[in-house]
Amino acid sequence: MPLTIRQFPCLSDNYGFIFRDEASGRTACVDTPDAQAVLAALDDAGWGLDFILNTHWHPDHAGGNAQVQAATGAKIVGPAEVTRIAPLDRTVADGDVVEVGETRFAVIGCGGHTLGHVAYFAREAHVAFVGDTLFALGCGRVFEGTAQQMWTSLDRLAALPGDTAVYCAHEYTASNARFALSVDPDPAVKARAEAVFAARARGEATVPTTIALERATNPFLRAPQLAGMPGAPDYESFAAIRAAKDSFKG
Ligand code: ZN
Ligand code: FE
Repeated sequence: MPLTIRQFPCLSDNYGFIFRDEASGRTACVDTPDAQAVLAALDDAGWGLDFILNTHWHPDHAGGNAQVQAATGAKIVGPAEVTRIAPLDRTVADGDVVEVGETRFAVIGCGGHTLGHVAYFAREAHVAFVGDTLFALGCGRVFEGTAQQMWTSLDRLAALPGDTAVYCAHEYTASNARFALSVDPDPAVKARAEAVFAARARGEATVPTTIALERATNPFLRAPQLAGMPGAPDYESFAAIRAAKDSFKG
């Protein structure tokens, strides 16, 4: 059975997501970037809220947990690191399964941006909520983990089915596209960048993306081909591309 997903922009460049498992009517939100925006989206949809699924502990992801829970009674599910800023009702880690009605989400550990970051992948629904790990044409900054850990995490996400819709937590795509153009001459990157700039000029979201599109054009997933470091481990090529992005002035 399908999921109905509603996506809304909030804060300066975050996306919030609420979804409903149509078979059961069960609902969830992914992260709580802005409690008021999450509650307004639920109100607009006419939905209650059964679960909050957190990807990581950062305040623009878990900062609204208490307020959303107080207003809806939702149970909060997330990696242990979230307890740095808010309590959890259920702690999850890599390999766990979270059921929202009949939709089963595999919890994928993808540390690097933060050590305990997780993604939620629903194979039958062809959907992944990836927080700040994989972005459209980009990836999260490596704040807590190592480049090797982040590369392993991105590699796991890249191995999901190509038709998986990837819901990233920020609209960073135009800036990511400017960087991608600076390191990757592939015509597919140029075509995608132009489509991204046009979409943003029209005020349209560039999220969700797909795993197939990211495999083909994301400079971080393509780091081994782009970094010009033959013989080096892939994670070192990734680290080089990540460092170039961190200092990119585009
Ligand atoms: Zn973050
Ligand atoms: Fe974030």
